[in-house]
Amino acid sequence: MSRPGGAALTRLLGLGTRSEEAADAARAASTSPRAYVADDRFGTLNETRKPDTWVRTTCGYCAVGCGMFVGVKDGIAVAVQGDPDHPVNAGRLCPKGLSEHQTLAAQGRLTTPLLRRSAGGAQEPATWDEALGATVVGFNRLLHEHGPEAVAVISTGQLVTEEFYALGKLCRGGLGLRHYDGNTTLCMSSAVAGYKRSFGSDGPPGAYEDLEQADVILLVGANVADNHPLLAPRVLDNAGATVIVVDPRVTKTAMVADLHLAVRPRSDIALVNGMLKVIIDEGLVDRAYVDAHTEGFAELAAHVAAYDLDRVAVDCGVPADQIREAALAFGRAERAFVAWTMGVNHSVQGTETVTLLNTLCLVTGNVGRAGAAPFSLTGQCNAMGTREAGGTASLPGYRNWDDPAARAEMAALWGVPADRLPTERGRAYPDIIDGVLDGTIKGLWVIATNPVVSFPNRARLEAAIRKLDLFVVQDGFATPTTAMADVVLPAAIWGEKDGTYTNAERRVSRVRKAVEPPGQAKADFDIFLAMAQAFGMAGELYPGWTTPEDAFIEWARVSAGRLCDYSGITYDRIDAAGGVQWPCTPETEAVGGTPRIYADGVFQTPSGRAKLWCVTPQPISDAPSSRYPFLLNTGRTVEHWHTRTKTGRVAVLDHLAPEAWVEINPVDAEHLGLGSGDLVRLASRRGVVDDLLVRVTAIVREGEVFVPFHYDERCANRLTVDEFDPISREPNYKQAAVRIERM
Ligand code: SF4
Repeated sequence: MSRPGGAALTRLLGLGTRSEEAADAARAASTSPRAYVADDRFGTLNETRKPDTWVRTTCGYCAVGCGMFVGVKDGIAVAVQGDPDHPVNAGRLCPKGLSEHQTLAAQGRLTTPLLRRSAGGAQEPATWDEALGATVVGFNRLLHEHGPEAVAVISTGQLVTEEFYALGKLCRGGLGLRHYDGNTTLCMSSAVAGYKRSFGSDGPPGAYEDLEQADVILLVGANVADNHPLLAPRVLDNAGATVIVVDPRVTKTAMVADLHLAVRPRSDIALVNGMLKVIIDEGLVDRAYVDAHTEGFAELAAHVAAYDLDRVAVDCGVPADQIREAALAFGRAERAFVAWTMGVNHSVQGTETVTLLNTLCLVTGNVGRAGAAPFSLTGQCNAMGTREAGGTASLPGYRNWDDPAARAEMAALWGVPADRLPTERGRAYPDIIDGVLDGTIKGLWVIATNPVVSFPNRARLEAAIRKLDLFVVQDGFATPTTAMADVVLPAAIWGEKDGTYTNAERRVSRVRKAVEPPGQAKADFDIFLAMAQAFGMAGELYPGWTTPEDAFIEWARVSAGRLCDYSGITYDRIDAAGGVQWPCTPETEAVGGTPRIYADGVFQTPSGRAKLWCVTPQPISDAPSSRYPFLLNTGRTVEHWHTRTKTGRVAVLDHLAPEAWVEINPVDAEHLGLGSGDLVRLASRRGVVDDLLVRVTAIVREGEVFVPFHYDERCANRLTVDEFDPISREPNYKQAAVRIERM
């Protein structure tokens, strides 16, 4: 099958290089679109819409990390344009990036602190001093009366790294809080835990350029066309590669694959075990690599020997010859690349599935070489930054919580007493919610995330929030979560503050302020400085800090010698390279840093060897029944980002995807007497969603339905099951039994 390329591909994915406003202005000023190139990048705009300045920055949505310019006129963001010199996107942007400047003038911004001055009273405008004072007095009272268990913090993957570093230092080194986690646990914690189990540390081994160099690209539960749009061209432009997609739905990505394995939900583990058996049976194991750099091969071979391919085919719902074809292609490839995202991570076996994909790469020697890597596609723009610097799942620099020497080193670097640091990680996000429900946690500070819409089993989450003594929410926009807060802290958003993001390939890029935040909103960095001041800790934690670069310089020093070594990265070096991949020391010669890690086959485990894992699939707990006969899958669409806090306010994106829908297979639709455009109710054991628009489509198989999770009004998380990976604590958003009722 031939894959689309060039203009057809660009149309299919909705990609472009400049916003409509920039394009309009260029058209008005020039009859030649070719005039609008890098050397004359900004010279073709007409005078009425010509920005005064173009600010070089990085997209604030997904972790692809595209470079762009924001055009500013009279203090207002009026256009964006892709950065043709950026190593990630070479000037192209997806629909979200192309309209990102519109988020800066969107309705619904928080412009003043808000405070509930009495229990059950309304939120009222307050001064910053009042809001910070209420937060500090309230948290101090809870900490004094109930100890460090009583207060928790949930942050995000949306801040700049400098803010994550400052926040982690305040939470861990200042307040000594045990329970500090991020919404990254809802999307990336299984990848983190899987990397740690296989390689001894978090950290994706490969780089985007591997997509162009691989002979085989295996995408597992990764619909890059919708979720990482600027990676899709890099996959599809590699005309020599065999692209294999593993996904229950016929996604846009699956439509353009050479081979689509439309597996049953949660059968990916059986599939990879079957592929491993074929690879071992056919003598395609890289024995030299396995013998030199791994441990556990004998156990693995014995484990997968039990996986009869015909049985695997039945379990997966995929013909055995297709599984064999995929295994042979992968095993015979000189360079094979595996990428995955939420289809793998959003599972109670997410961590185990990640270790199995790592194992597939290890036994075939596909780690640490060009075109060869097991690669976790991160979700949020700076999920990597919080993993590296934040002190949530690991101490900064991927230091382990359970290592006393690492804690002592961290305390010394921070200049705080060692006994102030917690001796273990503390509760992960879902366990913080459990702690609120059981009364252990009484105060919660939520930063730049919207759990009321994004957390599974919404009714239970709302019940937890109502139990809190003090609920503080810091965000740029009014959301269903800020509406429940006792204290609301208005924050600047992307485009209004400075710092860095790390993308999914470990590339650190600059984020720049283009316009002023509205009203009294402040950069999160400044809020953390003010909060530390109010706690009386600013001098100890942030000595002399005034700008994010002060935090960056300290963080780079703290990271020295670690796998995620930033010690050679400076703002100037990032500017020179467009983005720098860690590890990067002062001795690293390439100005852009290090494209891939583990090239020497030495891993971060005690033995230096990577571990091969044996994994056994488990049945789905909330399986379909006569009362709830369909299996619900949730996911994303290219027009929207997370809970639509931003994209729901951008007219062009909202116009393209204004409301939630449910995909139903034609056979099921006929049986239920439904057609496209009908409205239905979906009901699960936990809740109902009304008025879902039916799309009859063979994209989903019989017995399965799909709903995008972005929409507050028709919130898929009223239906999802609150079960979590026991290792990573990541939720299973992908398999819940539901019933369809005609409205
Ligand atoms: Fe932004 Fe991601 Fe789109 Fe690039 S692919 S423009 S980073 S949302």
